[in-house]
Amino acid sequence: MLFRSLAAAAALLAVVGPASAQEVDLRAQVAAYVQPTNEARTRVVVDQVRAAGFEPVVETFAGGNRQTGEMEGRNVVFTIGEGAREILLTAHYDAVVLRDGSMSQGVVDNAASVVGVIEAARRLREADLDHRVRVILFDQEELGLIGARKWIEAHGLANVAAVVNSDVAAYGDTLMYGLNNGAQSAGVTRAVREVCAERAMHCVGFPVYPPSDDRAFSGAGLAEAGEAGATDRVPTVSLGFQDHVGAHQMWLAFNGGEANGLAEGFVPQVFRLIHSAGDTMERVDPATVRLAAETYAAVVAKLDDQLAR
Ligand SMILES: [Zn+2]
Repeated sequence: MLFRSLAAAAALLAVVGPASAQEVDLRAQVAAYVQPTNEARTRVVVDQVRAAGFEPVVETFAGGNRQTGEMEGRNVVFTIGEGAREILLTAHYDAVVLRDGSMSQGVVDNAASVVGVIEAARRLREADLDHRVRVILFDQEELGLIGARKWIEAHGLANVAAVVNSDVAAYGDTLMYGLNNGAQSAGVTRAVREVCAERAMHCVGFPVYPPSDDRAFSGAGLAEAGEAGATDRVPTVSLGFQDHVGAHQMWLAFNGGEANGLAEGFVPQVFRLIHSAGDTMERVDPATVRLAAETYAAVVAKLDDQLAR
């Protein structure tokens, strides 16, 4: 629909309030992450968080893994509201270095999530929440969830009521959610399902869902690996978006077992894109980024309400 006049547009903006008045170009926001280094991506995160009206704090840590050697990392953190207990809304912003030594554009995985999470935060700013929302944009997820583990080491989990993580949310209208973050996460799963029902969304729950920073918080992945931190048991969910068919193919690939019906050697499209030269802006649909932002804001608000009762 086109606006009849600037006056009509101005009047509408006045009614719907500041979030829409500052409508951002989500596609351009995601494209800004196409950078030659993860250091440059950190600067983009900081700039976008500031432009959204928040005060970002860059928390550096001694990271890196066996392959990279010691490598400083930078988590970017900001908060919304007050409250002793916190709901964490998280996404990693780092991209992988490809085999030829160049950086992946890292927009499907995971700049689109980062933009969606910052946009969700803008929507939550006006909400009257009982919890503080702490948004953490992690570095070095791709090196082994290092940014998340270092954040937990530095801050502990005593004040953390729940974690909502986003990884891969760039195209499609189907919300995927992992069910493998331990029994303590049942309430978070319920909040996601309620949002799905209320918003009449396509949603697919995965008994087995690929790991992201969520595992550092729920302890599930760490327990499997027999590592320290396995006693941490925070209610956690990992979310992502994909097209409807792709989401179901991915479900079958991870959960269908021998009888999944997929062709021999079939790899779901998303796994052909991420960590490859194919993870480019051509794959990014700003409508999905917007949908992710709305959905994440709704899930956090729902959790805030459930956990306060
Ligand atoms: Zn990722």
